[in-house]
Amino acid sequence: MSDAIKNEAPNLRRHEDGFAWQGVQRLAYKQDGDAPFHDVSRQTLFSRPDLAGELRYFEVGPGGHTTLERHGHVHGVVIVRGRGRCLVGSDVSEIGPLDLVTIPGWTWHQFKAAPDEPLGFLCLVDATRDRPALPTPEELATLRASPEIAAFLDG
Ligand code: MN
Repeated sequence: MSDAIKNEAPNLRRHEDGFAWQGVQRLAYKQDGDAPFHDVSRQTLFSRPDLAGELRYFEVGPGGHTTLERHGHVHGVVIVRGRGRCLVGSDVSEIGPLDLVTIPGWTWHQFKAAPDEPLGFLCLVDATRDRPALPTPEELATLRASPEIAAFLDG
């Protein structure tokens, strides 16, 4: 935490320009593994041992996308910036500010930003959670059997 905010109330982190918060680091989306994604940053807004969940802010740059993945844990997502599309299970949807997206356990999901603006979203998640799985070639083929999903994955 910087000296500049030493005297601020300890339970307040002010928002700064550009979807940043005092004392919150902006990190690369995933620093381990080789999961396919493009132009995504992550900021952990709330994470503490006496809270079962974590709240993160992800931002996908224009034309970027998160990893196509699934896992046992659930996501609660609130779009707060820009526009884009998401795949959740068999549904491809246009998304924009303040839309809520629920991602149930073991459901394939991916977020893509519009070509001309970033897509920013809050993501609520269990603090203790399983690692994401990527689709096998067979699972990808099954997903691509839907023309709508194939168009999403290629778009
Ligand atoms: Mn996920």
